[in-house]
Amino acid sequence: KFNTDLGQHILKNPLVAQGIVDKAQIKPSDTVLEVGPGTGNLTVRILEQARKVIAVEMDPRMGAELTKRVHGTAGEKKLDILLGDFMKTELPYFDICISNTPYQISSPLVFKLINQPQPPRVSILMFQREFAMRLLARPGDSLYCRLSANVQMWANVTHIMKVGKNNFRPPPQVESSVVRIEIKQPRPRVDFNEWDGLLRIVFVRKNRTIAAGFKSNTVLEILEKNYKAYLAAVNDGSEMVDDSTGSMIDVVKQKIEAVLNSTGLSAKRAGKCDQTDFLQLLYAFHQVGIHFA
Ligand code: SAM
Repeated sequence: KFNTDLGQHILKNPLVAQGIVDKAQIKPSDTVLEVGPGTGNLTVRILEQARKVIAVEMDPRMGAELTKRVHGTAGEKKLDILLGDFMKTELPYFDICISNTPYQISSPLVFKLINQPQPPRVSILMFQREFAMRLLARPGDSLYCRLSANVQMWANVTHIMKVGKNNFRPPPQVESSVVRIEIKQPRPRVDFNEWDGLLRIVFVRKNRTIAAGFKSNTVLEILEKNYKAYLAAVNDGSEMVDDSTGSMIDVVKQKIEAVLNSTGLSAKRAGKCDQTDFLQLLYAFHQVGIHFA
C-alpha cells in the first residue's frame, strides 16, 4: 500500500506526532505549511491549533485519503491540499513549516525554506538521524561538512527528539531525529551563491588543506571565468588587453595565493574551519575581485 520510493513511512505513534506539532508552538493566527502530509497523522493535529494549513503532497492517493479524513470535521475548511512535488511548488506565505520529511528531498527542502522571500518563523522537521546530525555538526566533529557550514550560516538548528524506526509503518532502514530550524532574521548580508560556491571548493575533501582545494584545474578555470566576468562588469574589460592568449589563470593563481597567505588559512582544513574563517576568506577574495558565482 505504501510507496517507499516516495519515502512513505507513516508516523503511527500518536504521542510522537503530537510532540512534533506541540514543539512548533503554533499560534491561532498561524498558517502552517506541511510537506508530505501522507494520511494526515500530523495534519489533523496541526489543524486543531492553526488558522490555516497548506499541505503539499505528491501522491494523489494520499491527497484523496487526507481529503476523506478531514471531510465533515472542523478542520476541513482550514486545509488546502496542493498536489504535486514540493520542490516544484510555488509556496504561498506561511509562518511555520512542519514535516515528516520525505527523506529523498531533505537537503533541497531545507534550502528551499531558507531561500523563501519571507522565511518561516520556525520549522520542525523529521529527518534521518545522520542527516539531522550533519545539520547540527560543529567544526572538528566527524560529521561536520558543507551542509553543516552552509545551513548554519542562515539558520540556527537544534535537536528536539530522537524517533526510533518502529514508530513508523513500514519502518524505515534507519533511525530518525526531529530538529528545529530557526532561519536568521535579518538574513546575513552575504550572497547565497557566493557562500555556497566557496564552500563547494573547500569541502571537496574536508580533511585536505584549504590551499589544496584551489589547486584543481576545474576550480581555477571557473574562477578565471568569474574573474573575467567581474572585470568586464567593473571596467569594460580594458585590463584584459595585455594578455594575447586571453588567459588570466596566472593572475587568478597569484590572487588566490595572496588571499590564502594574508588570511593565514592556507594550511587549515575545511573540517576545522568555522563560519568566521570562511567569511574572512570570502571577503578577502572579494577584495581582490575573485568571485565564486
Ligand atoms: N506526514 C505523514 C506522516 O507523518 O505520517 C507522511 C510522511 S512520509 C515520511 C512522506 C510523505 O511525503 C509521503 O506521503 C509521500 O507521498 C510524500 N512525498 C514524497 N516526496 C514528495 C515530494 N517531492 N513532494 C511532496 N510530497 C512528497
